[in-house]
Amino acid sequence: MLLQIKTFPDLILRQPTETVSFPLSKDILKLTQDMIDTVRKADGIGLAAPQVGRAVKLIVINLEKNDLPPFPLYNPRIVSKGIKKTEIEEGCLSLPGVYGVVKRPKKVTIMAQNTEGKKVSFTDDGWVSRVAQHEIDHINGVLIIDLIKKYTQGEETVQGWKDQKLL
Ligand SMILES: [Zn+2]
Repeated sequence: MLLQIKTFPDLILRQPTETVSFPLSKDILKLTQDMIDTVRKADGIGLAAPQVGRAVKLIVINLEKNDLPPFPLYNPRIVSKGIKKTEIEEGCLSLPGVYGVVKRPKKVTIMAQNTEGKKVSFTDDGWVSRVAQHEIDHINGVLIIDLIKKYTQGEETVQGWKDQKLL
């Protein structure tokens, strides 16, 4: 089932999120599948539960174009960050038309739980690292507009939001 994507300044995007408990409820299992359907349909590379109106610590990563089928991470957190940082243009499904350069650590180690509740940890310095950092920010109420130093495309939209004093 496709879910509606909440856009800024919807307050859900700033709310604290609850830890997901195990075994997963039917509700959370359905939410996970719906989020995967939704991120695919939106042609996005990641989605966090607050973006579909649910204040829980759940993200999905969809790097199908890099041959990595969509997968969920429950209760993900960054446990270590590399020193080297990279600046990459990012967008966000909750901020249509807004793009900007965001500086983040290139390499991170993430700890999370899988669908069975098993603890998983992995280190990445590519797209998974970048997308996971963006989505983990979402479950902590952080948006790219908090991090962007330089807006790139979508200048008109950005100006429109500035005029409305939203940014
Ligand atoms: Zn986002």
